[in-house]
Amino acid sequence: GDAGFREELKFSQHLEGKAEAASDFARSKSLSDQRQYLPIYAARDDLLGVVRENQVVVVVGETGSGKTTQLTQYLHEDGYTRTGLVGCTQPRRVAAMSVARRVSEEMGTALGDETGYAIRFEDVTSPNTKIKYMTDGVLLCETLKDADLDRYRVIIMDEAHERSLDTDVLFGILKKVVACRRDFKLIVTSATLNAEKFSKFFGGAPVFHIPGRTFPVNIIFSKTPWEDYVEAAVKQAIAIHMTSGPGDILIFMTGQEEIETACYALAERMVQIVSSSSKAVPKLSILPIYSQLPADLQAKIFQKAEEGTRKCIVATNIAETSLTVDGIFYVIDTGYGKMKVYNPRMGMDALQVFPCSRAAADQRAGRAGRTGPGTCYRLFTESAYQNEMLPNPVPEIQRTNLGNVVLLLKSLNVENLLDFDFMDPPPQENILNSMYQLWLLGALNNVGGLTSLGCKMVEFPLDPCLAKMLLMGKELGCVEEVLTIVSMLSVPSVFFRPKDRAEESDAAREKFFVPESDHLTLLNVYLQWESNQYRSDWCNDHFLHVKGLQKAREVRSQLLDILKTLKIPLSSCRMEWDVVRKAICSAYFQNTARLKGVREYVNCQHGTPCHLHPSSALYGLGYTPDYIVYHELVLTKKEYMQCVSAVDPQWLAELAPMFFSVKEGDTSFLDRRRWHDEEKTAMEEEMEKLRQEQAEATSR
Ligand code: ADP
Ligand code: MG
Repeated sequence: GDAGFREELKFSQHLEGKAEAASDFARSKSLSDQRQYLPIYAARDDLLGVVRENQVVVVVGETGSGKTTQLTQYLHEDGYTRTGLVGCTQPRRVAAMSVARRVSEEMGTALGDETGYAIRFEDVTSPNTKIKYMTDGVLLCETLKDADLDRYRVIIMDEAHERSLDTDVLFGILKKVVACRRDFKLIVTSATLNAEKFSKFFGGAPVFHIPGRTFPVNIIFSKTPWEDYVEAAVKQAIAIHMTSGPGDILIFMTGQEEIETACYALAERMVQIVSSSSKAVPKLSILPIYSQLPADLQAKIFQKAEEGTRKCIVATNIAETSLTVDGIFYVIDTGYGKMKVYNPRMGMDALQVFPCSRAAADQRAGRAGRTGPGTCYRLFTESAYQNEMLPNPVPEIQRTNLGNVVLLLKSLNVENLLDFDFMDPPPQENILNSMYQLWLLGALNNVGGLTSLGCKMVEFPLDPCLAKMLLMGKELGCVEEVLTIVSMLSVPSVFFRPKDRAEESDAAREKFFVPESDHLTLLNVYLQWESNQYRSDWCNDHFLHVKGLQKAREVRSQLLDILKTLKIPLSSCRMEWDVVRKAICSAYFQNTARLKGVREYVNCQHGTPCHLHPSSALYGLGYTPDYIVYHELVLTKKEYMQCVSAVDPQWLAELAPMFFSVKEGDTSFLDRRRWHDEEKTAMEEEMEKLRQEQAEATSR
């Protein structure tokens, strides 16, 4: 409340001097001085000593101590890059790109030269590259081609505390590399103190602590829970800006949509305040950051604000530990984050909003105490913190779909997934469920081995369903068309819909509609862009994101390269687009929904209601076919189907006979469900038998 703000005012006056000192520092010091000021610098020689003597080292240090940007450079300076690459994995794409850019600057070289990065569909490295930042997923794919990772002298597994799915799988794989390559070094870094677990996993590797330098953070809980935390965060930020001393603000929200709403509201409030105030109001620079934000806008959060301007960064949990912005004195924490969670009943992952863990909340608060004592406003109550939040986040491997992991491990010849060396094994049910789905797609055979289709699917850096769709394009003579659709589905939406020109942009989008399919609408957009010479001005005129389309074009050309190496020729169905929908159907039949009532659909497998999204072509044209398949279900206020295509029930019977038969009427849907459950149990029993046989064989 107001009393709280007044208290804050006193507190912030006390801070003022320090904030100025901190921003002066950043302004006046050269990059090399800044490097020497980082906490890790004092530990440099000791750290290099420990690395020299041990094959695996766990490094623990507060966020912002310099682990990500400095460790690679120290290893480079110490000569490790003479005989191989120093690789550093990141769970997040944004972090890999942004950190590589920073390190290039510090080294005074061009990005992609000595220091580069690689993320899915984007490789900014050269033969000259010595330090390579990459997502953990990229390194995982590299293990398929080179199981011993011979190109690398050192791998730093950064942000291990995040326990991303790919990091967890890498743990098991790198443990083997460590065992068979004496010249290979592994460094595992973590921002939090529970690093003992990592040390234990690697047979008692030494844990190196970087002495921290942090300032106290004053934590202010809400007295009562907020109804609308976005609005609460906006109010709090404005209050800080108008009444508190210098220092930038960092707000934690859950996702892009919320961040945009908050930024819009902040900007609006500022305009109101400026126009109704007789005095000069200090400027507020509002900066969003989330993973899908274009790179040039992402870089803005690191730029110094003009004199007299306060920065307000509105971020997802990406700013929790992977990115560090200096000069933050105020953190506003909504207490929520988005997490991918596997829903076994629906057989799919859904991105859902959850309260974050206590460990995450403490990390967030800590961001305010990097350059001086700070304040963290928690938009939740102290009792929620104590009683409702989990102490630590649940590792991703225990909560998401394992389709890709299963395919990958199978192709690395890990016969029995239940025996793989996981730090925290996923629930057996999740493994079996994912195997079952892969079996339905035809990637695994009855005894859980890779089929030839499955082997080809692994070659693509795509989700199993998208890979299957592409390969079915080959069978059905429409690879070219499917390739374009898969590429368009691999980039953020290309439709641009500014709030103040919503109607105009909706009308522009409608012109591209193909009545029976959003997938074909995407194809149509791409083809028209192509026939307009890939022009940017054409995109702008049609409310399309140029960057998104360009990205889709790049993805397309990379997938095309893979098709070439697999000797899959391009085929086109010309304008006979029905067969393209059939290819989509062959991969997404688990996402079939049936019309039930007016404009109402239910999923055929589990009966979940599914709604056409207002942006869908089918919605826009009021076309409601009996059967449709969707790309994904997004749970927001309702269960919305994203990207929908009408399908012919005949295709379902032909492509997924285990689910559908044409003779049956819709009412027998429950029978089919039962049949499907029996089938699944049979497969599980079979796999369990196989597992026991294998166990016996190895124990003999
Ligand atoms: P850690 O990995 O220990 O959290 P980092 O190496 O990421 O620490 O950060 C060290 C310092 O480098 C921080 O002060 C941070 O502000 C700065 N830094 C990191 N990335 C960038 C960037 N892209 N632009 C400007 N400064 C950066
Ligand atoms: Mg880091």
